[in-house]
Amino acid sequence: MRMTKLFFNTLRETPADAEVISHQFLVRAGYIRKLTSGIYTYLPLMLRVIKKISNIIREEMDAQGAQELLMPILQPEELWKETGRWEVYGKELMRLTDRHGRMGALGPTHEEIITALARDEIKSYRQLPVNLYQIQDKFRDEIRPRFGLLRGREFLMKDAYSFDADEAGLEESYKKMIIAYTNIFNRCGLETRMVRSDSGAIGGSVSHEFMVLTRTQSGENDVLFCDSCDYAANSNRAESRMLPADTDGKFTDAKEVDTPGIKSIEDLAKFFNIAPSAICKSLVYIADKRPVMALIRGDQAIEETKLLNAIGANEIRIASDAEVREHLNAEPGFMGPVGVNIQIIGDESIKELKNFVVGINKADKHLVGANWDKEIKFPAKIADIRLVQPGEGCPECEGKLETTKGIEVGNIFKLGTKYSEKMKATFTDENGQEKPFIMGCYGIGVSRTAAAAVERYHDKDGIQWPIAIAPYHVVVVPVNVTDEQQMSTAEKIYNDLLAENIETVLDDRDERPGVKFKDADLIGFSVRITAGKTLVEGMVEIKIRSTGELLKVPVGEAVARVKDLILKEC
Ligand code: ATP
Ligand code: MG
Repeated sequence: MRMTKLFFNTLRETPADAEVISHQFLVRAGYIRKLTSGIYTYLPLMLRVIKKISNIIREEMDAQGAQELLMPILQPEELWKETGRWEVYGKELMRLTDRHGRMGALGPTHEEIITALARDEIKSYRQLPVNLYQIQDKFRDEIRPRFGLLRGREFLMKDAYSFDADEAGLEESYKKMIIAYTNIFNRCGLETRMVRSDSGAIGGSVSHEFMVLTRTQSGENDVLFCDSCDYAANSNRAESRMLPADTDGKFTDAKEVDTPGIKSIEDLAKFFNIAPSAICKSLVYIADKRPVMALIRGDQAIEETKLLNAIGANEIRIASDAEVREHLNAEPGFMGPVGVNIQIIGDESIKELKNFVVGINKADKHLVGANWDKEIKFPAKIADIRLVQPGEGCPECEGKLETTKGIEVGNIFKLGTKYSEKMKATFTDENGQEKPFIMGCYGIGVSRTAAAAVERYHDKDGIQWPIAIAPYHVVVVPVNVTDEQQMSTAEKIYNDLLAENIETVLDDRDERPGVKFKDADLIGFSVRITAGKTLVEGMVEIKIRSTGELLKVPVGEAVARVKDLILKEC
């Protein structure tokens, strides 16, 4: 490809709405252009990256026996009603109405469609197992579309669905996908960790996420991982051994005490000269429009996704002061689990509390010396709803947990019969009995994977693509296109590289060398070959993007050297 022909524009300025590196560089380097919020055009450079990732995905999925198909994007409402998700999925589902008034949605995921297909096509256990996948645009009306390709409203996903006759079969299918995913991300040059996760709206019980640990501030997920074993989990699922703390308030008598204007745990602890861990903290949330009170040890914080799952809600947010007053008839800061008729859920951490301090829904008062099932009723529902903190103990070994930001690039779920039962998708087993399919589903964010690679591999000048997914391997730069020797040398190297099947761009633009070098770094060609002043010594200069290393090589050896470098990196 000649740069004068390549459809691209680089920008010197960072776009105002681009908060994260991948968004900034992908726009500046001419990979993507925004159409509207969360929706982007993939320009030719981007499409090359996307195709490379997609091809790696196809090869590894096929190697595990999965088969590619392509399902419609537009999905009828009826199927979503069969599973109940028409109501449950909420505002993320992009709904629309056709000219006959029939409702439908643009697919955010395809469990309903594939289950309906399996219901019609798979009759007997002899046809199992089956794993079907597609690579397709998905639509989700995300509440906060942001970060460019990391969280779009239209984005490219690989989604796969497995059908098995029994649990053992699902186990097998799941394992195969773990192998496929591990290979896919390795081949894309991305180091990932497989972490336990929450199953969210898709449901099912066991699920894992594949996370690119970015080592930067970007990445929307917090991942906790053990410093000595394999344990890693999304913070919405992580468990830990808590650090030892003083959970005894040591008040000998239970009594109400005036605490004028003292609302925060910190101020209460100071006021009573006790540890925050000897206070019971009460928080009120609005879960699907109803109020819920959550109790936790004073030094700990609530993990909202855990809470959401524990009470089986779809949406949750902390209640406003006005809502606390309305539902509890209490002042925020003084509320507590007494005399209220809303659901109360306690975190495991409150079990240890003794002679503790707690709000009682009376302004400017707290109860001290409280004990469970004496002054305060122990909540009927207890669950792990606590946010794990770095420094706490690993739940599986003696190690310590650390935290980092991660970007979820893939997700695998054991669905079991969640969809097949609701949709009556059954097959006949060996004994002639009708059984629901045992299903799994497996997603990869293709466009997000590309952006995650940029988050992970860049420097201040631009992108440092892993070579397997770089749009082109090499750029050949004649410093001055009006210099005949430079131009003819560059042309020859360019043609020789193409003949070796090395993906090469010739920067034949009549631009200053500074502009060409800046663009080469920004776009992230893996190798730059410069035909400039060194030609008088019969040399060209080779620059390796990932390391910045500069080599001087005789003109005649350039192609062989570059070929070697690329093979080595691949
Ligand atoms: P998230 O927690 O990030 O919203 P999810 O759990 O909703 O992700 P899945 O439904 O499992 O995601 O989708 C499979 C994959 O699709 C994810 O692992 C992710 O890589 C990608 N993905 C999901 N939502 C988006 C989005 N809005 N933009 C780009 N990629 C996405
Ligand atoms: Mg999501």
